[in-house]
Amino acid sequence: MAKYVYFFGGGAAEGTAEMKHILGGKGANLAEMTNLGITVPPGFTISTEVCKYYYEHDRTYPGALQQEIDENLAKLENEMGKKFGDQNDPLLVSVRSGAAASMPGMMDTVLNLGLNDKAVLGLAAKAGNERFAWDAYRRLVNMFGDVVLGVPHEEFEHAMDKIKKQRKVKLDTELTTEDLKKLVEDYKAVIKSKAKRDFPQNPREQLHYAIDAVFGSWETPRARRYRELNRIRGLLGTAVNVQTMVFGNMGESSGTGVCFTRDPSTGENYFYGEFLINAQGEDVVAGIRTPEPLQDLKTLMPAIYDELESYRQKLERHYKDMQDVEFTIQEGRLFILQTRTGKRTAAAAVKIAVDMEKDGLIDEKAAVRRIDPYQMEQLLHDRFDPKAKKEKLTTGLPASPGAAKGKVVFTADDAEAAVEKDPGAEVILVRIETSPEDIGGMHAAQGILTARGGMTSHAAVVGRGMGKTCVVGCSNVEIDYKAKKFKVGNKVVKQGDWISLDGSLGEVYVGKVPTIPFEVSGNLDIILQWADKYRKLKVRTNADTPVDAKTALKFKAEGIGLCRTEHMFFAEDRIYWVRRMILAADDKERRDSLKKLLPMQRKDFVGIFTAMNGLPVTIRMLDPPLHEFLPHDDKTQKEMAATMGINVKEIKAKVESMSELNPMLGLRGCRLGITWPEITDMQARAIMEAAVACSKKGIKVFPEIMVPLIGTAAEMKFLKERIEGVVQEVLSKAGMKIDYLIGTMIEIPRAALTADEIAEIAQFFSFGTNDLTQMGFGYSRDDVGTFLPGYISKGILPDDPFQRLDQAGIGQLVQIGIEKGRKTRPGIKVGISGEHGGDPDSVEFCHRVGMNYVSCSPFRVPVARLAAAQAALKQSK
Ligand code: ADP
Ligand code: MG
Ligand code: MG
Repeated sequence: MAKYVYFFGGGAAEGTAEMKHILGGKGANLAEMTNLGITVPPGFTISTEVCKYYYEHDRTYPGALQQEIDENLAKLENEMGKKFGDQNDPLLVSVRSGAAASMPGMMDTVLNLGLNDKAVLGLAAKAGNERFAWDAYRRLVNMFGDVVLGVPHEEFEHAMDKIKKQRKVKLDTELTTEDLKKLVEDYKAVIKSKAKRDFPQNPREQLHYAIDAVFGSWETPRARRYRELNRIRGLLGTAVNVQTMVFGNMGESSGTGVCFTRDPSTGENYFYGEFLINAQGEDVVAGIRTPEPLQDLKTLMPAIYDELESYRQKLERHYKDMQDVEFTIQEGRLFILQTRTGKRTAAAAVKIAVDMEKDGLIDEKAAVRRIDPYQMEQLLHDRFDPKAKKEKLTTGLPASPGAAKGKVVFTADDAEAAVEKDPGAEVILVRIETSPEDIGGMHAAQGILTARGGMTSHAAVVGRGMGKTCVVGCSNVEIDYKAKKFKVGNKVVKQGDWISLDGSLGEVYVGKVPTIPFEVSGNLDIILQWADKYRKLKVRTNADTPVDAKTALKFKAEGIGLCRTEHMFFAEDRIYWVRRMILAADDKERRDSLKKLLPMQRKDFVGIFTAMNGLPVTIRMLDPPLHEFLPHDDKTQKEMAATMGINVKEIKAKVESMSELNPMLGLRGCRLGITWPEITDMQARAIMEAAVACSKKGIKVFPEIMVPLIGTAAEMKFLKERIEGVVQEVLSKAGMKIDYLIGTMIEIPRAALTADEIAEIAQFFSFGTNDLTQMGFGYSRDDVGTFLPGYISKGILPDDPFQRLDQAGIGQLVQIGIEKGRKTRPGIKVGISGEHGGDPDSVEFCHRVGMNYVSCSPFRVPVARLAAAQAALKQSK
């Protein structure tokens, strides 16, 4: 018979940390900690398989479940010596969600279940603490109303604010027992009016509804959105943990907190955390009161601090990773309520991995495996120029590092809307505090600024997870949502004004502060050097200029995988001659224009070869539709006509005659070179003359001339012969021998399918996966905006195939291309030069199908190095 419920308590648990898939992360670790002898309040976990069943069976449960729950509840009552539903000495429980992947703030928890109008009196008498009992009860009614019955949280906040105002107090801890009793009545009235029902007095009913709400929360839009953004897939669902309550709200010797075994922002080996005295559950995270730093606990409750410190060491040694731990102190006794792998910034991840390797906790390979290459991209960002003039507005807590600048918006929706309108828009989301509904906007923003909350507030935790620059707890920022502005002292910042955030310092500046480029150094360099030991793929860069090439070299690129020559044609001093070449009346005129372009191109290549001294450089022949270069507006057409001494009508006619309905499928790529071989000749000559000039100066050059958009072997043959002719002529004239290759891009499906024929001629392949995706899917790359976002949100496509290689389809074309190519030219060098070359998942694919190298934009070179190492390590495991 299937087992749905797993008990933990009494020093032993039925589950283990390995069982995350069915117990969820929280449940599995509660079990593991119980087995480790850590003080965890007992309880039981209802498995994720029930969640799966629930959604597969129209939100109903397996028949055997209720009995299992009853049995486990009885076991728990036995363990605790209290009865659930008892009115004199009630057993209270929490109902907590928890999937295999942590989703902070996504799924909701209900505390203090089992209380009702009678039991609250029993609890008060038993604890000898009336205030505490009513505080617990008002929290239950609030959470139950909010999480289970769907009453908006603000409704309860209003009631709370009202009573605080009446009593002229600021903090909930200042409310008296009588106030709390009144609050319970107010909350009940809120439920009655908003949910049109009474708060259920029957504890069994409470439990049943709460469990149902947790399972129900798995498919809420915000939970789905979180999974989507974080690419959490393939889970059965959430588990439900029913756990004995411990109380941090029993007075001054009680409290609750969150700690990290190392600093989650910097990675420093420092016991980091926050706590609140006389508080319960999420008070710390919710930013209701400003929590105190964990180190203060040392003086306040030294014995508790020491015990916590011993758990810190035990947990790190056991899990061999930084842990994020929840604890509660009930009248001087410490309980651990959760441990999980702590979210951290990319910088912290790198430091922790290196430090743990030094301490012998993990080895180099584990350290390399542990850094998420997607997250590492966060590190590759610029920082504020230390020399820039900055006008500091205020300082808050440095919750998530980075340098962000953007226009102020005050709602998540506005942030999303701004980016939807213009994908390049930069906004900073400014909120009093953030909540899970804001996830989308936080993602869209460059950075987040909150007025409230500590280092473990929602904004801080989620910001770090996303790699968003985040400054929290700027208590002197007064936000007026209605007027869409905020004030710091007498300075006013309005919606749309620019501000800049330094997430490492927690500083906020007026305006747009200039940034300087990032560099690889320190721990990141160590990790990347380890990565280099294990990877098999070479990592090249896409670079069109010596500047790009030099940047990529700093990141240890091992060559250029794609140098696009057309970019050189757009430069101001050349575009005239390019246009002239295209508009030429005859071949002679065209050759004359090309002659003007030759020295310019040669100079470009000399620059690039010089920068890449000793490394291969793949240069792609002219690729885009020629008419892209033509003057399209009146003014430029007139100027062009004037300089050429012809009538503007002629220009207009030529431009007209060259326009195409589908330029991306028209006269471009190798078709250009075949139609106008003089262009190919000029480019081949420029490349080889540059190679000769550099060689003479002692620079080592390895040119790889690449013909784009080949669809048939005959095209390749035509152009290879043409290029070969020029190359030989240049070399023999110079009396030199230089190694070079002539190869092609595989980017048309037909080329992949006939790669064996093409490889008989082409000496290397570079998969141009942008065009291959475009033509394989039949999606115009420039027009996907009209339908692709919808495709992804509807689940028709898992990802944007232009960002992440579609391995199932386009990947097959790549595999066929490689296999066939190697049939006729064994060992042919194969690489990739699409956007995908810097996407970690796609890099792994490239490794698996046996490519020799990937090529990506300069800033992604470190990411590709890491991803390539992880791919190799994964395969060797
Ligand atoms: P989340 O996944 O959002 O962190 P949790 O289930 O961990 O949700 O619970 C929210 C808060 O309630 C946490 O601070 C947690 O420590 C606290 N909490 C949960 N269960 C109990 C319990 N049985 N006793 C005391 N505090 C609890
Ligand atoms: Mg929560
Ligand atoms: Mg938690």
